[in-house]
Amino acid sequence: GGDFNQKIDYVFKVVLIGDSAVGKSQLLARFSRNQFSLDSKATIGVEFQTKTLEIDNKTVKAQIWDTAGQERYRAVTSAYYRGAVGAMLVYDMTKRQSFDNMARWLEELRGHADKNIVVMLIGNKCDLGNLRAVPREDAQEFAQRENLFFMETSALESTNVETAFLTILTEIYRIIS
Ligand code: GDP
Ligand code: MG
Repeated sequence: GGDFNQKIDYVFKVVLIGDSAVGKSQLLARFSRNQFSLDSKATIGVEFQTKTLEIDNKTVKAQIWDTAGQERYRAVTSAYYRGAVGAMLVYDMTKRQSFDNMARWLEELRGHADKNIVVMLIGNKCDLGNLRAVPREDAQEFAQRENLFFMETSALESTNVETAFLTILTEIYRIIS
């Protein structure tokens, strides 16, 4: 990394979707900059962050898109999904509603995105285990039924964040190469 003349073999666009306040922006901050903020402001404007990494001796630039406070129903535009090869469906495991809404986020995604898109379900805030409102089994069952990868993460404690992004990027690489 950091090489000025680095040759990029692949650019993978991955979109983050899910209700407001589930931790999408903090997952992205943790993955791309190893940062976390407890009082993160709502994202303004469509934004993405990039991170360059090696997969199978190839240089992959991950371009991770974050919703711009567009989390209201049907507010995320088709431009957001355009060209995406991966998607992370994020819920807050302490907020049942954010998990129940995953079905309609998935429907939105499937209506806009390429049919071969790799999708991962993310139960974030697993550091708040005593406040858990979504049993792991419920999420596993949903993921299995819908053919999604599934992981529980904590952007705060860094749990599984790197692993989740690496898993989806590696799967995208496997499909594309
Ligand atoms: P977004 O609206 O989905 O982008 O959510 P944010 O990333 O802005 O996070 C919303 C709130 O949840 C902020 O106060 C974050 O600090 C907090 N948060 C995000 N991830 C975690 C996490 O893994 N654990 C805990 N305890 N709080 C988190
Ligand atoms: Mg945000």
